Amino acid sequence: MTDKNSPHGKNKTAAETQLIHDDRHPHDYEGFVNTPTFRGSTVLFPDAKTLTTNNQPYTYGRYGTPSTTALEQALAQAEQAAGCCLTPSGLSAITTSLMAFVQKGDHILIADSVYYPTRNFCDHLQRSFNIEVTYFDPTLGERLDYLFQKNTRLIFLEAPGSLSMDMCDLRLLSDIAHRHNALVMTDNTWASPLLCQPLTLGVDISVQACTKYVSGHSDAMLGAILYNEKTGQQLRDYHRFAGNCAGSEEVFLATRGLRTLAVRLNHHEKSALTIAHWLQDHPMIDEVYYPALESNAGHALWKRDFSGACGLFSVSLHQRDKTKIHALLDALKLFGMGWSWGGFESLVVPYNLSKTRSAVAHQDRINLRLHIGLENVEDLQADLEQGLEKLA
Ligand SMILES: *Cc1c(COP(=O)(O)O)cnc(C)c1O
Repeated sequence: MTDKNSPHGKNKTAAETQLIHDDRHPHDYEGFVNTPTFRGSTVLFPDAKTLTTNNQPYTYGRYGTPSTTALEQALAQAEQAAGCCLTPSGLSAITTSLMAFVQKGDHILIADSVYYPTRNFCDHLQRSFNIEVTYFDPTLGERLDYLFQKNTRLIFLEAPGSLSMDMCDLRLLSDIAHRHNALVMTDNTWASPLLCQPLTLGVDISVQACTKYVSGHSDAMLGAILYNEKTGQQLRDYHRFAGNCAGSEEVFLATRGLRTLAVRLNHHEKSALTIAHWLQDHPMIDEVYYPALESNAGHALWKRDFSGACGLFSVSLHQRDKTKIHALLDALKLFGMGWSWGGFESLVVPYNLSKTRSAVAHQDRINLRLHIGLENVEDLQADLEQGLEKLA
């Protein structure tokens, strides 16, 4: 299913090799394969002149270490970005990006299907900082044009959107925003840096919750902001100013995760496709929301802009009864119930979008989001089958 060559000419095989080899410099560290974890606050200067001019590569732990530089460069290369800032969480990557560019009196356009805490933060900007926020249907295409105002500073996208998994046209929406001199930001967590490079599609800033697939083992919180030449200086200045630096342990875990990202994602995709196809024809399932399926409304966009799919998708059920759906959840043995995703393990959460979205109407019903982990796919299928029987 995975296209070997992504649509914008980047060879996926080359990207996989890059993740293993680039930004490791063993012979700078006595031959050890991995960059050591630099734990540090104070950095010493050799003399008064260097100290007073701040003239050396590293000056204070908050501003970076050789370990953070190595991960930033690896992520920037993977997403073909000008550079990268690490932050303590995916959400802080989002809030840092927004805060770096908005000012009192600005208007911002936010895709209706963004990760809920992103929306929460935008509502806070509206209430507390006089930022005007408009949520829009991310599938609106050309009609985005009509939503711009003189004071529209930026648009924020996510492809596919959280939970509902609707695709948006990153290229088209970026073009429209640039015609209005607005910046374009997108949350690229679903694709990870390997399966989509938003900056090559016209996006200015791509944020990544490295907590998910980059770390890949449900053991770390970390975010990354990938920026282009145009936005780099202002972004880096704000990041420095706000003090949003990442912890050394998390940087180590994410750097280690990056080395196996490609093999893990290949397995997640293969198993998720098997299960999504099977569920599509299952009598208890109403619809499967996964852009990698040909039946999905966003399939053509996904195929054009992504070089693969991850293990996260959603389903709706014919059964609407909450007690029955809870019985299904409680019966599952291999699918843990918990937030987050992107780790090695399978997960399930129920959700109802009827009260959390404003631009697109969603039915008042309980859907499920599944994360297909690295377990044996037949075991996962058997677990889901016995769970789905509880809906009868
Ligand atoms: C989890 C998630 C985030 C937030 O990442 P954290 O590291 O948990 O703060 C942001 N965007 C998306 C799409 C996510 O799924």
